[in-house]
Amino acid sequence: MNFKAAMFDFDGTLTEKGHPTPAQEMVDALVDLSQKMPIGFCTGRQLESFKRRALSKLLEEVNDEERPKFMENLYLFSENGAIGYDFNPKLGEFEEIYRVEWPKEFIEREKLRTILNEAVKEYGEILYNAHEIVVVMGTKFYYEDMPAIDEVYKLADKIYEVTLDVLKKINPNYAEYVHVGNSGIGVIVSPKNGDKDAAIEKFGQFLTQNRGMEFDARYSEILTVGDSAQVGGNDFYFLNGRFGTPYSVGEILPDNSLIQSVKNAKGERVLHSNGTLKLVRSLP
Ligand SMILES: [Mg+2]
Repeated sequence: MNFKAAMFDFDGTLTEKGHPTPAQEMVDALVDLSQKMPIGFCTGRQLESFKRRALSKLLEEVNDEERPKFMENLYLFSENGAIGYDFNPKLGEFEEIYRVEWPKEFIEREKLRTILNEAVKEYGEILYNAHEIVVVMGTKFYYEDMPAIDEVYKLADKIYEVTLDVLKKINPNYAEYVHVGNSGIGVIVSPKNGDKDAAIEKFGQFLTQNRGMEFDARYSEILTVGDSAQVGGNDFYFLNGRFGTPYSVGEILPDNSLIQSVKNAKGERVLHSNGTLKLVRSLP
């Protein structure tokens, strides 16, 4: 496949598990890739967090020659795809392309945050004042130095289970309104129509309409890479193959023949940021 654009999950895909920012070699590889094609970062994080954790590092690394193309090719899909942004080089800022709305007919967002904050308190808490559309819970280690990352993942699994129970009680048909995604370091409840698969479609539409690019009906020329493609993972919809060509660098490879993985010379899977780096470097 000759890819024309690429989309990346952030945590566990561009960063190593448990690391807040991408390594230097990943930053270099992404800047190189931006000289060839549009790149969309597709993350559960909100705009501010992405700017702090990723954009600042990328901008430090771009040289004057690379800068125009890098900025032209920079896109962000935050809050698990609920809001999309195009980077405006003149303003030096991200500009919103779209945002979906919270499904109030299911439950008011504030009310859900209150209920969930109480329900998950043994394992974590609602992250207030951060996200604009989605409802996000971090583990209780979110604001502290994380212990062994696997302990964090276990807490996120607990928060995920509790969240499903809460949603089922509100409405057994909750899945008609919201999706629940576990990123391993937190859990996101997002509008069903604003998940990461919708972001792929919107990215493809934007590139078609605004940059004259051509794609097939599934936007399969868009490479999508994530690490949480398992049922309940926050890349489940991102990598379900409805749009884009999906690659998983997560430990669990779902039983979905559409998802490809990255392998070394011995045929072993290469995971997380090492897998993504290998894949990005292999692109023509
Ligand atoms: Mg991830």
